Amino acid sequence: MKKVLVTGGAGFVGSHLCDRLIGEGHVVICLDNLFTGSKANIGHLLGHPNFSFVERDVQQPFFAQVDWIFNLACPASPIHYQHEPVETVRTNVMGMLNMLELAKATGARILQASTSEVYGDPLEHPQKETYWGNVDPISRRGCYDEGKRCAETLCFDYHREYGVDIRVIRIFNTYGPRMAQNDGRVVSNFILQALRGEPITIYGDGSHTRSFQYVDDLVEGMLKMIQQDGFVGPVNIGNPGEFTLNELADLIIKMTGSGSETVHLPEVDHDPKRRQADITLAKTELGWEPKIKLDEGLTKTITYFKSVV
Ligand code: NAD
Ligand code: UDP
Repeated sequence: MKKVLVTGGAGFVGSHLCDRLIGEGHVVICLDNLFTGSKANIGHLLGHPNFSFVERDVQQPFFAQVDWIFNLACPASPIHYQHEPVETVRTNVMGMLNMLELAKATGARILQASTSEVYGDPLEHPQKETYWGNVDPISRRGCYDEGKRCAETLCFDYHREYGVDIRVIRIFNTYGPRMAQNDGRVVSNFILQALRGEPITIYGDGSHTRSFQYVDDLVEGMLKMIQQDGFVGPVNIGNPGEFTLNELADLIIKMTGSGSETVHLPEVDHDPKRRQADITLAKTELGWEPKIKLDEGLTKTITYFKSVV
């Protein structure tokens, strides 16, 4: 049994991680300022003897004697992080510093939820961890991409300078139940539009690609990484299956039996054109690979959205 702090625990990924940790008998403190997360995501855990919720900003120092820290606090969707870009940088940098200080003070192992966005609009394909990326620091995505890159830098400097026990994972696009309805991410947007019979909004010509990972696979990768000795990362955690947005739209229309049609809207500024995880390192070091295929994960996600719309 471990004492675990999950920052951003009331968000989409964080709430699934809290579920898994509680299910395995750990004691969990969920710290979240509810910027993009919600109490509804963790409502079923409130009152559990091993679960506590602290409504707090990760930009404020926090102390608790814990064994593991998962640092997820950060708005993750372009709509949200671009709405408050300065806050996004602050959360990434100040939040990371606070959590690394906590790890240093307590001796806790700390896992940083980094992102495939550190690769920017990649010039190398698929993306391996050795690729340094192609990021425009002054673009609208810069607050998130550079914030996450700086957070990785802080992790590795605390590791080298103070011996902090870090783990860094780079998460590729993840979807599943409890994605926020209003955050504009592609899987939730397309499913909601299909269920409502609205046009499916494809930005650009639909040839852009992403690799989509179901949230349970990600949580399994996070658990493997925090328990792994002698390997700090960074390591890609994603599903290597690569789909164009046109393919994703067609699949969701078919699976929902929707009468929606696709519409092509102007391309988004600095939108990465191709993204595909190379997970060779995760397979070798963690013995991890995703198990859930896109149609299986979408079935579960569509069922969830049917229950909330
Ligand atoms: P989310 O927006 O659902 O969750 C983020 C959580 O962090 C929310 O509950 C939010 O309220 C909280 N938060 C934001 N700023 C905070 C602050 N200053 N103090 C305390 N809490 C704060 O997003 P998610 O998809 O669950 O992402 C979780 C983490 O995983 C993020 O760090 C994100 O960057 C990373 N990630 C996610 C994906 C993905 O596809 N979902 C991909 C790459 C990386
Ligand atoms: N996208 C789209 N229509 C939407 C929402 C998103 O075509 O309604 C595109 C977006 O431009 C990007 C991809 O889908 O090319 C993934 O977007 P998302 O915001 O989910 O994640 P990210 O851009 O962070 O990978």
